[in-house]
Amino acid sequence: MSDLGAQDFDYCIIGAGVSGLSLAMQMMDSALSDRAIVLIDGADDDDALRTLSFWSAKPTALDALVRHRWRTLELHGSDGPKTIELRSEQYQTLFFADLQRECKRRLLESRRHLVIEGRARSVEERDDHVLVTVGDRTLRAKWAFDSRFKRGELGVDTARWHALEQRFRGWVLRTPHDHFDPDRATLMDFRAELPAGTAFFYVLPFSKREALVELVTLIPAEPEPLFEKYLASVLGLREYEIVAQEAGVSPMTEQPFEPRSSARVRAIGIPAGRLKASTGYALTRILDDNAAIVRSLSVLGHPFERSADSSFYRALDAVMLELWEREPERVPGIFAAMFGRSPDRVLRFLDERTTLLEVLQLIAPLPPTPFIRAIGRWIARRLDGVSPSSPG
Ligand SMILES: Cc1cc2nc3c(=O)[nH]c(=O)nc-3n(C[C@H](O)[C@H](O)[C@H](O)COP(=O)(O)OP(=O)(O)OC[C@H]3O[C@@H](n4cnc5c(N)ncnc54)[C@H](O)[C@@H]3O)c2cc1C
Repeated sequence: MSDLGAQDFDYCIIGAGVSGLSLAMQMMDSALSDRAIVLIDGADDDDALRTLSFWSAKPTALDALVRHRWRTLELHGSDGPKTIELRSEQYQTLFFADLQRECKRRLLESRRHLVIEGRARSVEERDDHVLVTVGDRTLRAKWAFDSRFKRGELGVDTARWHALEQRFRGWVLRTPHDHFDPDRATLMDFRAELPAGTAFFYVLPFSKREALVELVTLIPAEPEPLFEKYLASVLGLREYEIVAQEAGVSPMTEQPFEPRSSARVRAIGIPAGRLKASTGYALTRILDDNAAIVRSLSVLGHPFERSADSSFYRALDAVMLELWEREPERVPGIFAAMFGRSPDRVLRFLDERTTLLEVLQLIAPLPPTPFIRAIGRWIARRLDGVSPSSPG
């Protein structure tokens, strides 16, 4: 590929999904605000991510875009409903379309930046820059940030690691009458008509008449009938209009991702291992990783400095995946028991922000037998997976 006629930028961001858009926003809000960014938006029209939820006790880079926040959460597990009052954390949701609109508005405001619609066809590294082609355009950048990801690339070694899938299907509903309590969100409601622990709903009301109802399943299932049944028999809702839908599948594996980074290309988002294996949440991990990129570029002049992921939490993820896979009927009770004590601590734990002592405090009241069995099976699986006689 020739450099001739290439347009010059400091940073080329490949993919205008969650990590690409938020990285551009975080760069524009930082000491790097005078750098030139090109964002390559290769999203298909049917890319169907609509809402992004997360929790946090402190401000985040996307606070201005948050549509709704909740401190009162409900769980509905095997032993009935449980109401949780958060003290420091807040559960929050923003709309992907708002992130997209705001990021592009800001990029297009400055002549320094460029947004290109199209798929990156090739990415080639030179000594001190990267060349990226989109259609017949060639872009030259000092650094590229790559969020392209195909699930097939993951290549999970299933002899050693879990390879579950979290299937999402969400509906944003509008009702003709007041129906929802916008101060109260349902975080996990396991009353889906599938084997216990293999599916749950969450309900995030944005107003008295509008809510996201999302079904998450760990086994293949036809979502519509489950959704209609849930609306009628659990929410008592018959009159509604569907105003938006979202769907997708997230891989759940503790296998470490090999970030596809190289000398001048830094992986971001899912390819950088930002999806939390046991929960399927990624947003705050993406924002933290982006912040590390911005810091590293500002201080060191390259984007690669970041703290390593914790192998302790990865082991805990693996145990949780073992339970989801082999004893899912235990999972609702485990979440109910953990949230019953200190909900803020559970959310910090799921975000890997707890100390060892806090982890022990969380685990102590749980029934030990399923965990001991899960740990035993996980160790056996790892040993089998690495033994010379085992295939692969
Ligand atoms: C339905 C669903 C709901 C989710 N909800 C939440 C949630 O509420 N909270 C949370 O924390 N996490 C959530 N996640 C998990 C995670 O945050 C998302 O998957 C998120 O989109 C990951 O961000 P990303 O940038 O890695 O990938 P993406 O957002 O998928 O971005 C990658 C982008 O790259 C583009 N692309 C691919 N190839 C090319 C190419 N050659 N050239 C240019 N562009 C290209 C794609 O079209 C895409 O737009 C959800 C996941 C799914 C599937």
